[in-house]
Amino acid sequence: IEQTAYQNDKLAMLGKISASIAHEIRNPLTSIRGFIQLLRPDFLELGKEEYARIILTEIDRANDIIYEFLNSSKPTAPMKQSVSIMALLKEVILLSESEANLHGCQIQLETYDNDMLVAIDVKQVKQVVLNIFKNAMDAIEEIHGERRGRIDVVVRKETGFAEITVRDNGKGMDRGTMSRLFDPFFTTKQEGTGLGLSVSYRIIRNHGGSIRVNSRAGEGTAFNIYLPIAE
Ligand code: ADP
Repeated sequence: IEQTAYQNDKLAMLGKISASIAHEIRNPLTSIRGFIQLLRPDFLELGKEEYARIILTEIDRANDIIYEFLNSSKPTAPMKQSVSIMALLKEVILLSESEANLHGCQIQLETYDNDMLVAIDVKQVKQVVLNIFKNAMDAIEEIHGERRGRIDVVVRKETGFAEITVRDNGKGMDRGTMSRLFDPFFTTKQEGTGLGLSVSYRIIRNHGGSIRVNSRAGEGTAFNIYLPIAE
């Protein structure tokens, strides 16, 4: 299911508007956080430590949302370099391995001698792959114990594009979730921001590529990312 152009424009516009005020919101949030922390001993005496904890958690969540938004509203033109897709994937897997272990899953990179040079902004594409891994880990965590978590990464050559498939055997999604998962702020998670995939979508589109998803509730999910092969 592909996100519509309309949703993409909406995100770009929201990004621009919010970038200017986001900085201003972060400053008061930082001082609120600081003063709540100073008040903490009083909360403890009153037996209201739980309230202090909730306030701090919510301030942090607001900060996360602003942080991700600031990131997503930075100049969008990718700084392209020719890089090996395998080298990039190996690096992101290395970065993610310890967290994957904590979530009880393994990341496997299948090689069919299919390495290619792709024309990409390395930082941006790394962020996309990290987002997709992170979602896969969350989906696997929710079925924890039922089966061994697996994230399989496969690279194939498609005309003009490198196709990267990231498949997990996590909880999967129903149709309703599938149709909305690229929407800004759509999340089914308690602590989610709902920005990971909308930002990823925009990054890949700015590279002249595309991103697709296939999923079955209870079985797992596969993301396909298409990136242009370097000339
Ligand atoms: P967040 O992770 O903060 O919720 P995302 O934009 O990254 O935001 O994801 C949006 C939603 O898409 C998630 O809340 C989840 O419901 C769904 N989703 C994304 N990836 C997966 C996956 N691999 N398996 C199951 N659901 C997923």
